[in-house]
Amino acid sequence: MCIFCSSEGEDLKHIMIECDFARQTWSLTHLPWSIIVNWGDAAEAWIRHLHQNLEAWEYRFALPVAWKIWYWRNKALMENSHVSSLELVESCRWYLQDFDVASLPFNQGWELL
Ligand SMILES: [Zn+2]
Repeated sequence: MCIFCSSEGEDLKHIMIECDFARQTWSLTHLPWSIIVNWGDAAEAWIRHLHQNLEAWEYRFALPVAWKIWYWRNKALMENSHVSSLELVESCRWYLQDFDVASLPFNQGWELL
């Protein structure tokens, strides 16, 4: 049973793109839904499809979003801990921004903090 919506038959495809929580989360990313929703036959095919069809910056954003959907599914299941779709998406934006700053050479990035 899905921890987010209580529907039967939870599988990875449901968690990532079919569940209302996932749909709301992806909607907040403004990534192209017509590409995100094309699951294919397995998670590996989906990730490959995203890599091949999203712009590089979109793919870079989609990966932590997918990871965080899975992460919060597990947090909800194991710890009854929940996050909103907005908090999830914002945390991914901050994560990528922090990664960019941390990736700059020392004399360029750290003074921005
Ligand atoms: Zn669900």
